[in-house]
Amino acid sequence: MRYFALIELKILRRGAETEWTRSVYRMVRTELEKSWLECGSGEPLQALARLRSVSVVVTAQNDPQLLFRYEWLQGWILFQLGETEQAFGHVQTARSLSETLDHSSQASALTLGAWILSNLGLSDESYSVARAAVNLAETGDNNFALALALHVSALIAWMGGDIPLSLDTSQRAIAIARTLADTHVLCWCLFGRGCMVADEAREARQNGDDTIFISGHEEAIALTDESLALSRDNSDSWARRVSLTNKAEYSCYIGRFSEAHGALEEWTMVKGPVSNRRRIQYLKTYAEILQREGRIAEAREYCEQAVQLTADIGTADLKHLCTKALSEIHEAMGNFEKALQLHKRFFREVQQFEGEKVKCRARVAEIFYEAEKLRQLAEMTRRMAERSKQDALTDPLTGVANRRWMEQDFDGLIASGTRFAVVFADLDHFKAVNDKYSHAVGDEVIKAFANMVSTCFRANDLVARIGGEEFVVLVRDAQEHNLSLIGDKLLRCTRSYEWTRIAPGLKITTSIGLACSKEVEGRDALLALADARLYRAKTTGRDRYVSEGGLPSLLHAV
Ligand code: GH3
Ligand code: MG
Ligand code: MG
Repeated sequence: MRYFALIELKILRRGAETEWTRSVYRMVRTELEKSWLECGSGEPLQALARLRSVSVVVTAQNDPQLLFRYEWLQGWILFQLGETEQAFGHVQTARSLSETLDHSSQASALTLGAWILSNLGLSDESYSVARAAVNLAETGDNNFALALALHVSALIAWMGGDIPLSLDTSQRAIAIARTLADTHVLCWCLFGRGCMVADEAREARQNGDDTIFISGHEEAIALTDESLALSRDNSDSWARRVSLTNKAEYSCYIGRFSEAHGALEEWTMVKGPVSNRRRIQYLKTYAEILQREGRIAEAREYCEQAVQLTADIGTADLKHLCTKALSEIHEAMGNFEKALQLHKRFFREVQQFEGEKVKCRARVAEIFYEAEKLRQLAEMTRRMAERSKQDALTDPLTGVANRRWMEQDFDGLIASGTRFAVVFADLDHFKAVNDKYSHAVGDEVIKAFANMVSTCFRANDLVARIGGEEFVVLVRDAQEHNLSLIGDKLLRCTRSYEWTRIAPGLKITTSIGLACSKEVEGRDALLALADARLYRAKTTGRDRYVSEGGLPSLLHAV
């Protein structure tokens, strides 16, 4: 009684432990997904804090998928926060972790890596990584990963100036994103496509086509309206603000000023904290609308506010764009001296921006290439290990299994409990073949025999050369009453083979001992039984098989 109570207690405790582990796992997963959504709704700092609060538990879980997601999210969020180098480090870790996971996880890691590389201006690398991401995602079964990979590829093509390719890819991204329940990616795809269509329209104007300029901007507005609706539904304040400034910009380009003002008015009503970058974008867009409306003094006011804010964002990427806009406003107002002064500052800032990019690019490139080198080394080592494992198990002369492989397979079959037959074959009077023809011809015979036996049996039966001209075949799913069929078949194959192709007048026969796995127990006993029967076949005249204790089966297969 006491004994059973103890077991029950153990089982109960073990059950509780797994239940507890499962609930911790669920909790961590939920926290990770919450941080993804938080970042998506424009709260990257909060998202990062949430993520880091579960770091110890994630590590303790020791679950590769969970660790992968954790690292990927860190990369994603840090990148949104402008911490590019740190982000890239996490993406590389995620990439290594993803190697043991499915194609979709691998694709997600590559997608994020590609996006970071492209933002650093490493366009060639980003393009090839993005292409690899799309290829992997296409063979996976996760449409989210595929849509994201296509979306990023489209953006990279767009940033590289290949608008037709970007439009083509974004169309595919949108089609896939429409199948997803989570509409965040669809939303980003739509305003991304808006940018591409608007660029195409501007290119058309440069080529003198005003109709396309207008229809293109109308299409960009329609796409952005759709992304706007989704961002409202998703409470994705970041995407909503981006969509609104984009819409305002497109509208004002084609003279729809009230729509442009409407979009910016909605911008001020979007709830949640606003990053300086978004606010600068808003002020800059506002200034542009006012400038186009001829309200130049007001435009200057907004643009000056934008320029002031750029002092706080550390990096110079938005700084030079705002300075340039302000310089143009002063020029339009006739303040040429001020315009010139700003223009000079603009050039300094461009240089600063390029300098920052170059430094960061160099550091990331170093991480990228180091990681690539390590990956290639790991791949080479893996291949070499695989090869030496293969070498250790195959017979170099014939390419069939060697004794060690046969023994491993044998033990596997015994452990699995399936019935199988052991075929032990030894060529007859082989010494005489060597003596009469040459050792080289002898080798050719051994190779030909191995090949012939392999085609004589099924692909999942194991053919092994275990000695000079001795072979063992392990025939799966064979019963005792099938042994004679197996013996007949091998004799028939050996007899009908055209040995004279190897040397004129050459004739080869074989003797065979057969045993069935259920006759005796254990590998050694079974092999010994087959060997003893082979010996009987030899001593009773060769060119025959013996499958049981009685008389050897004679040449009824002739
Ligand atoms: P039996 O019918 O009794 O089997 O006669 P046998 O001459 O075949 O005798 P046994 O099986 O004992 O001899 C095998 C011979 O095979 C011995 C050796 O000279 C030869 N041999 C072993 N390995 C190789 C090899 O790799 N290549 C060649 N050409 N000959 C080999
Ligand atoms: Mg022999
Ligand atoms: Mg022999």
